[in-house]
Amino acid sequence: MAFDNDMGDFTTDAILLRKIEYGDHDLIITFLTRDKGKICVMAKNAKKSVRRFSGAMDLFSVNHIQCAFPKKNKEAMINLCQTVLENGFSHIRYDVVNTAYASYWTEIVTQWLEDGKAQPDIFELLYTALEMVDDGFIPTEVISLLFQIRFMRLSGFSPGLDQCDTCHTNIEDVDSARLWFDFKAGRVVCPQCKGRIIPVQEPAGPFGAGFRGCWVSKGTLKQLSWINTVEMARAGRIKFSPAAIQEGETLLESFIPFHIGRHFNSLKFLHKMRSEI
Ligand SMILES: [Zn+2]
Repeated sequence: MAFDNDMGDFTTDAILLRKIEYGDHDLIITFLTRDKGKICVMAKNAKKSVRRFSGAMDLFSVNHIQCAFPKKNKEAMINLCQTVLENGFSHIRYDVVNTAYASYWTEIVTQWLEDGKAQPDIFELLYTALEMVDDGFIPTEVISLLFQIRFMRLSGFSPGLDQCDTCHTNIEDVDSARLWFDFKAGRVVCPQCKGRIIPVQEPAGPFGAGFRGCWVSKGTLKQLSWINTVEMARAGRIKFSPAAIQEGETLLESFIPFHIGRHFNSLKFLHKMRSEI
């Protein structure tokens, strides 16, 4: 019998992405785990069991969790048995702007990742990004650029920022300070090639007609390429000018929702917060 009980159990590190109240006592929690990818679990009696669930199970917190697969009904949810808080990231949760950024990243992860598919590199990326915000040495808006561009690369959708997508001229050799970034293609195009492209009439999607790209300076493109590939520990050394941050934000915060094909509520909140600073 003991053997049977242990069979479906597993432990892993997990970042809390989302929690929903279920009835009076239970919680349904979405975690990004190191070993099992994104999982949705049922935490029975979570609001009362302080002993089993240490910490308050706050958003973005990192926990060591113990879970059990359902034994009888295989369609039922995974049960969360126990959690031990590893890092509560209090500097994120008590700062409304940091919370807005972290909410945006966790919404990307929640919307984009398949359930139950282990992606330890994405777990590490989110963990490191949250840790960097909590440490407070690097501006959160720079960490956000770093998170977004690396997330897209790890997901296999790295935007093409090094050369013109049409004539393949390296951006260094393009005779212009700025290039056009096409949101749909996720690629830059030089001004000459952009002039030759005949706009395609498409039905208005979730983003409306005409919302197709933005101009970005070469300097910003080079900095984004650099933070995409450099070791994480060195990425914080790059200095973005306020203009480069703004261009990078426009590019990535348009490209990602465009690519995923939906609007992000967390992004609306983030834009509102930024406009009020
Ligand atoms: Zn070109």
